[in-house]
Amino acid sequence: GRMRNYSALVQSKALVDGAWVESSDCDTFEVLNPANGAVIGTVPNMTVADAQKAIDAAKKAYESKEWRSLTAKDRSNLLKKWHKLIEQNSQEIAEIMTAESGKPINESKGEVAYGNSFVEWFAEEARRIYGEIIPSAAPNREIIVMKQPIGVAALITPWNFPMAMITRKAGAALAAGCTVVVKPSEDTPLTALAVAKLAEDAGIPKGVINVVTTKKAAPMGELFCKSPDVRGISFTGSTEVGKLLFRNCADGIKRVCLELGGNAPFIVFDSADVEKAVDGAMASKFRNCGQTCVSANRFFVQDGIYDKFVEQLKKRVEALKIGNGEGCDVQIGPLINEMQFKKVSGFVEDAKDKKATVLSGGKPLTEVGSLFYAPTIITDVPSTAKLYTEEVFGPVVSIIRFRDEEEAVQKANDTRRGLAGYFYSENLQQVFRVAKRLEVGMVGVNEGIISAAEAPFGGVKESGVGREGSKHGIDDYVDIKYICMGNL
Ligand code: ADP
Repeated sequence: GRMRNYSALVQSKALVDGAWVESSDCDTFEVLNPANGAVIGTVPNMTVADAQKAIDAAKKAYESKEWRSLTAKDRSNLLKKWHKLIEQNSQEIAEIMTAESGKPINESKGEVAYGNSFVEWFAEEARRIYGEIIPSAAPNREIIVMKQPIGVAALITPWNFPMAMITRKAGAALAAGCTVVVKPSEDTPLTALAVAKLAEDAGIPKGVINVVTTKKAAPMGELFCKSPDVRGISFTGSTEVGKLLFRNCADGIKRVCLELGGNAPFIVFDSADVEKAVDGAMASKFRNCGQTCVSANRFFVQDGIYDKFVEQLKKRVEALKIGNGEGCDVQIGPLINEMQFKKVSGFVEDAKDKKATVLSGGKPLTEVGSLFYAPTIITDVPSTAKLYTEEVFGPVVSIIRFRDEEEAVQKANDTRRGLAGYFYSENLQQVFRVAKRLEVGMVGVNEGIISAAEAPFGGVKESGVGREGSKHGIDDYVDIKYICMGNL
């Protein structure tokens, strides 16, 4: 592996109860660079028993004076210190992120800033977790409502945003007064550990943030769901795993926040500004090589603008610069692993079999590396194709032509998922009509990139429960307590 100046933040141990530890059976696994297969680090392959220790540590920390007796302002200040340290180390974190995820370096820098904006936001929100006093119908009573932390939260995060998915959860949890056990993706544990190291340096007390790395995700997930000491689970990842966790949390009536897959429609109406629509399409589709849960998955383009939009998009797609994400002008890196690579190429082959037309790309780029896939445009995608019914999570634009607004809205909503949806229109009435009718948690109107710490992120239908970011992001980590003051 190529060791660069980021090495000082690369950890080879996990963090439990303020100590950097091996797995109890000393097993480890390697972290690979998807751009070239190089080994960039080794981390503990922890066991269920190790995870139990982390839960115990989080519980002890939750109940300890060092955490419990902090004021909201104290917690806010700790988060601010963490924010500052992440800012000071942003270049190193971005390099680790690019090395383990393949994300182009400019995007990694963007993610560090975005991920850190949650730490800052929740440092601010920590001081505004207000209660209520509600007028009682009885003359001698007061109704008082306060919000209290739920306790220990387990956070299970994916590889596509190795830092932001952790800070979006942990920032809220810590602001609320919870403690956490983080299980990062086995593909990207180094970013998680680097950020945890900075939390330790910021003075966040031991046991408040624990990070367990493992390839044995399933039994560890089961422990989190079943342990009575874990009061909430926050998960970002596949719908399949989300459903499993939801089921496993039923017995313990656990708080769950699930951010699952989407199947985002991207509608271009005749009334759209075609240049803005093409810009938005490029950003929404090709950021992180199409590997985001809010990536546009199905492009519906109206008859009257179809030829112009497709022609301009094709030019832009064919100009994308592909390569190892370390190159500062690279726009498209590799897919994260072989499983994703096979999925993307399988979906394209399936669409070809079903008579869709490949306008651009449509093939692996083995000459660049074994996990690279060509930016692709496919038109006439039938509704039976996997590209239409499932999330491709890759650099593939699937285009479907439509006639009128009603048809577009119906097709957009014809999925059990409902995370993000985008549309381009310069017609005010149409903007309101369509924004209200799309069955999604987030709508981009004339905008392809919509995530922000200040905004509530989350889905409807099978895309999840709960919201992250914004003031609503705190809700999953607090219980409402009603205190009835009687006989006053
Ligand atoms: P993807 O890899 O497609 O983003 P996954 O749902 O497989 O989605 O992974 C997201 C996170 O969930 C990762 O941290 C992964 O290790 C974890 N994970 C995978 N399977 C399970 C499981 N059965 N229980 C708990 N966590 C799991």
